[in-house]
Amino acid sequence: MTAAAAARRLLLVHAHPDDESIGNGATMARYAAEGAGVTLVTCTLGEGGEVIGPELAHLTADRQDALGEHRIGELRAAMRELGVGDVRFLGGPGRYRDSGMMGVAENDRPDCFWRADVDEAAGHLVAVVREVRPQVLVTYDENGGYGHPDHIQAHRVALRALELAADPRYRPELGPAWRIVKVYWNRVPRTVLAAGLAAAAERHPAVAAPEDVPGVVPDELVTTVLDGARHAERKAAAMRAHATQITVDGSFFALSNERWQPLLADEYYQLVHGECGTGRPETDLFAGIEDR
Ligand SMILES: [Zn+2]
Repeated sequence: MTAAAAARRLLLVHAHPDDESIGNGATMARYAAEGAGVTLVTCTLGEGGEVIGPELAHLTADRQDALGEHRIGELRAAMRELGVGDVRFLGGPGRYRDSGMMGVAENDRPDCFWRADVDEAAGHLVAVVREVRPQVLVTYDENGGYGHPDHIQAHRVALRALELAADPRYRPELGPAWRIVKVYWNRVPRTVLAAGLAAAAERHPAVAAPEDVPGVVPDELVTTVLDGARHAERKAAAMRAHATQITVDGSFFALSNERWQPLLADEYYQLVHGECGTGRPETDLFAGIEDR
C-alpha cells in the first residue's frame, strides 16, 4: 500500500538526514507498524556534516565533498529499520544544499537551503502534500528548534506549503487543494532533558548543553506524548544507521562533538494548528481525526 492510500497519513518535514530518527523515530515506527502512511520529506542531504570515525572522513565537504550521497544511503537504511517506505528529498536529492550554523561562510552559497526562495521550495512540498493528503504535519518551530538555519528554513517552507496546498487557486496542476488538519512542532520537555542529561553525565565524560538540543521547552507547552517503549529498539537501530553522524550507547547518544544526551524513547509534541482530540496530553497525533 502506498502512503497516500492509507487511512491515516503523517507527513514529517526535516532539514537533514538523521533529524527524523532522533526526533521522531519511535513515532514513525509506531505509525508505520499500525498501517498509517508515513511520508518523510528531508530538505537537504546534510552535505556539510562532520563524520564520526576515520574510515569515511574523506567524504566531508572540505575533502571529497561526497557526504551527501553517503547520507542518502544512511537515511534509507534508517527508514528500513523504522518500516517507512516513503522518503523524499525536497525538490529531488541535492536540490538544496546543507547550510552551516548561523554566520558561517557556507551560508553564502547560492545553492544552500538557507538561501532558497521559500515560495519555490514550498511549491515542491505542495506537490507532496496534494499527492499524499496527510491529516497531520510534524516539523520544527519558527526558530527551527535550536536556531540552525536549515531547520528554520524547513519550518518556513512547511508552513508556506501548508497554506498554499489548501488554496485551490495555487497551481491546480499539482492536484486538488488539501487542508492539513493538525500541525505539531517537535518538542523535548525541559525536565525530561535535564533528567536525561544528568543520567548521561553519570556514564559519559561530556554531555550536551541543553541549548544544543532542538525543541526544548517548558513542560507545560507539550500537548502530546507518544509512548515509544515498544519502538525504542527500532528507533535506536535507525539512529545507528546514521553511522557517520550518531554514536549510540544504550539509552544515550552522541553526535560528532562527542557530547552525550539521552536517546528518548517517548517523543513529545506541541499542537499548534488544529484541536487536541482528547484531554492533554494526547497520546496519538491523529486523536480527533476521523479516518477518511
Ligand atoms: Zn538537522
